Amino acid sequence: MTVPTSSTGAALAARRAAAVAAGVTSLLPGHFATGAEPGVLIDQDGARLIDLGAGIGVTTVGNAAPAVVEAVRRQAAEFTHACFMINPYEGYVAVCEQLNALTPGAHEKRSALFNSGAEAVENAVKIARHATGRPAVAVFDHAYHGRTNLTLALTAKNMPYKHRFGPFAGEVYRAPTSYPLRDPAGLTGPDAARRAIAHLDAQVGATNLAAVLIEPIQGEGGYIVPAPGFLPALADWCRANGIAFIADEVQTGFCRTGSWFACDHEGVTPDLVATAKGIAGGLPLAGVTGRADLMDAVHPGGLGGTFGGNPLACAAALATIDTMRAERLAEAADRIGATIAARLGPLVAEHPALAEVRGRGAMVGLEFVGPDGAPAPEVARRVAARCHRAGVIVLTCGTYGNVIRLVPPLVIPADVLDEGLRVLADAIRSC
Ligand SMILES: *Cc1c(COP(=O)(O)O)cnc(C)c1O
Repeated sequence: MTVPTSSTGAALAARRAAAVAAGVTSLLPGHFATGAEPGVLIDQDGARLIDLGAGIGVTTVGNAAPAVVEAVRRQAAEFTHACFMINPYEGYVAVCEQLNALTPGAHEKRSALFNSGAEAVENAVKIARHATGRPAVAVFDHAYHGRTNLTLALTAKNMPYKHRFGPFAGEVYRAPTSYPLRDPAGLTGPDAARRAIAHLDAQVGATNLAAVLIEPIQGEGGYIVPAPGFLPALADWCRANGIAFIADEVQTGFCRTGSWFACDHEGVTPDLVATAKGIAGGLPLAGVTGRADLMDAVHPGGLGGTFGGNPLACAAALATIDTMRAERLAEAADRIGATIAARLGPLVAEHPALAEVRGRGAMVGLEFVGPDGAPAPEVARRVAARCHRAGVIVLTCGTYGNVIRLVPPLVIPADVLDEGLRVLADAIRSC
């Protein structure tokens, strides 16, 4: 795939540099998005970039997916805003009904809608604190929960997220996680949970904890799948101690891992679930869903926001969820994951720098290491840069920046995925 260069791109880049704050960067600054096809993003020159990133796991049903476009078009012609805190509308209610039905557990639930993943996580913490009357929140090494002040306190990584943005919100305590590749003690899931619990018991005390907040598979932190049994043991401890177990399914949710939610794989039923990213086919929407007694503990008017659950975003979410059901996208995620494993898994034996190909469904991380097993971010960067030059969008992540993550739209055609993986495999061989 050749990527033409053009003065249009250069002119756009110059305008961008003069107008957009330098703190907002782009992974592929030379390619301004102008259109999309399934699994493909089109730039200002008409170059077709194979999209293995889905705008960070957002365009799960595709970019400008026909059903989403039609639903948004119809809604935009009716009304674009009412503010649910002033006049309610059915779309908001319908999205909450879907979230209550689809999230793990058959218990009675309620939902509230917001604009971003960070806002959802922040509200989940507010709800847990209010309902339990306790102050402390436990999070984990390598966690990513967003960029607002509270969620930065919850996020682990300094550069680029936290650097010089403090002071951060208090009463946040960080526990060791389960990171099988890098766990020096080589602990099983239940043992890693015992280690985290011992840490929290000693340094916080269970009765001070409002919530344990965790990504069932860590996203920005490196696509880290905890050892089996880690999540259920933590959830059990929370239940026994009146602590809200909050699953941050912002990146793992909505079919990404081969199920509606990543907690489904281990039969874990969170008290509260935060969702966003893939929920609405690219429109900004987020939700908090959870036990009715916790959600309804908050006083009337205690939750909300001007734009939260915007009607266009709700229409998009309903069309997105319909599409996921009709096109069986959870199964598609498993198929994509199997294809990636078959194509890239064998490279681990051939290339010592590729330590692991891991993940679940269409959420796959490739971790790169040096000869001593230390993180090798420069290798991940070189591989990613090679892919970008060849017109394939791949994203990096990881506390150490040494992981390439594959999080393609679940509607990516098989031949497009194959071509993207061929480019990526070549890049790994040559780096
Ligand atoms: C992206 C992400 C967030 C933050 O979502 P925004 O919409 O960027 O605010 C929170 N948690 C996880 C796990 C994420 O991947």
